[in-house]
Amino acid sequence: MTFTIRCIDCGHKAPFFPTSVSCPRCNSQWREAEYDLETVASNLPLQLPSRPFDLWRYRELLPVRNLNQALTLGEGGTPLIQAVNLGMMLGCPNIYIKDERQGPTSSFKDRQAAVTIAALKEAGITEMVVASTGNVAISYSAYAARAGIKLWAFVTSLVPAVKMREIAIYGSQVVKVTGSYDQAKQVAAEFARQRNLYLDMGARTITSVEAMKTIAYEIAEQLTALRGPSPKISANQSQPLWRAPDWYIQSISGGMGPLGIIKGFSELRRMGLIDREPATALIQTEGCAPMTQAWNEDKDTASPVISPRTHIETLATGDPGRTYTLLYKLTKENHGTFDSVNDEEAFRAMHVLAKMEGISAEPAAAVAFAGLFKLVRAGIIKSTDVVVVNCTGHTMPTEPFLLGENWASSVVLPSRSLEDSPQEGLLAALNRVAPARFPRVAIVDDSEEARRLIRRILQSQGNFTIFEAENGKQALELVKKENTDLIILDLMMPEMDGFAVLDALKTEPQTASIPVIVSTAKELTADEKNKLKGQIQALMQKGDFLSDEFLEEVRALLG
Ligand SMILES: *Cc1c(COP(=O)(O)O)cnc(C)c1O
Ligand SMILES: [Zn+2]
Repeated sequence: MTFTIRCIDCGHKAPFFPTSVSCPRCNSQWREAEYDLETVASNLPLQLPSRPFDLWRYRELLPVRNLNQALTLGEGGTPLIQAVNLGMMLGCPNIYIKDERQGPTSSFKDRQAAVTIAALKEAGITEMVVASTGNVAISYSAYAARAGIKLWAFVTSLVPAVKMREIAIYGSQVVKVTGSYDQAKQVAAEFARQRNLYLDMGARTITSVEAMKTIAYEIAEQLTALRGPSPKISANQSQPLWRAPDWYIQSISGGMGPLGIIKGFSELRRMGLIDREPATALIQTEGCAPMTQAWNEDKDTASPVISPRTHIETLATGDPGRTYTLLYKLTKENHGTFDSVNDEEAFRAMHVLAKMEGISAEPAAAVAFAGLFKLVRAGIIKSTDVVVVNCTGHTMPTEPFLLGENWASSVVLPSRSLEDSPQEGLLAALNRVAPARFPRVAIVDDSEEARRLIRRILQSQGNFTIFEAENGKQALELVKKENTDLIILDLMMPEMDGFAVLDALKTEPQTASIPVIVSTAKELTADEKNKLKGQIQALMQKGDFLSDEFLEEVRALLG
């Protein structure tokens, strides 16, 4: 393994020692690993086919000298999943989710922990200190347990109790600090100094930044497998190039993730494996958005947020320090952006993601998806763009406030009546679970995909009896036979189109007053809009609504 550590302030190059935290010449703590990329580029692609799909398949580009099989928990190698339903709702079909929930402790911090703890173990460390908004401490605790390192985890008292207990179960010492995350960091640093313990340096930890790069490598390999290699040929290797996405989106707190991932894409480009780097969209919560604020004012330094106001503690880094200055420059270069969303938008995105894609993410991870929705709607992300969103963390048991009331129905069996007549007692109890008749909805669309999407939207958050028709004639028969309460109607269908269906509905007394929602992929002309006037109750443009917006219309019409 040939790599050196270069100081980004004075350029001095030195060999790597995991426990030496500053430049021997100028004392700067900001340094990065440099590899002989030319050599790696000519060897690595030949090695990859025979290696398992995990983080260590890129070992030539990681600052660990010897692979320690005894430490690994199967980190890295998470799936890249196409978000078909989100794509249809947003009118942006090429959205992919890098599912980092599938790491050993369910967040992308597992990469950082695996590489950093491996390096510290190599350096003989047996006790260390970390400050965390939750997930770093959980990941470090798991790997520290395997490595035989005692971990002191300083967290703010706002970290959800389930996460604190998760840290403790691995045998780490949890220290709750009543104060902000930035204050918890200061307390941890002072504790480490007094006891002369190794302190994790966040984004200045070379192994941590390097570990995050593997997300970029995996995305490029996976996109190549899913979409085929780039049509271009690499200039120096005459072999097909890997694929890079147009956008990489992540929610950020301290900004360590993107620092590494942008470096990863840059190394791939310099090795001639991809031909361009993605734009990055880095999303914060409005209650703690120092980087977005500075970006919007086009400043390269961020003013710290002293008292973050957000429920999303994972993202409550108030003072990003120099990491922002580095990210500012990198984001300018890749034509990306910073943005922010509020907590409610994040919780809403969390529901949409879970209900429409089967992916339950923690609120901090959902912030990235709320950012995606915002950027697509603003036209900054184009409908043809290939977008990868990092789903950085799994929800630790869903916290009560995220669901509100009435999220479960209960069956209470009266024990007496069960003994007397078991069948009747059961029936009566089940009847209380839900009414016998649900609102009856007809979905009329010639596209099976479109029908499936609307069926899913309705079934994910309500009780409806759903019927489907794939053409106008079927629709008319169905509506009469099934006495539907609502019709969701596509306009563009072969033979009998939506306009003709509407005409036929309105001429029959039995069907004339059934409310109709038109859902169409077509930009309507003024003439067509006029024709619909008075005939329908709502118009929904396909590719331009999220599931909950659609449901609101449906609920309003059913009263
Ligand atoms: C750590 C974390 C983030 C923020 O990551 P940074 O790159 O360090 O800013 C976002 N979401 C989740 C779930 C995290 O654990
Ligand atoms: Zn230096």
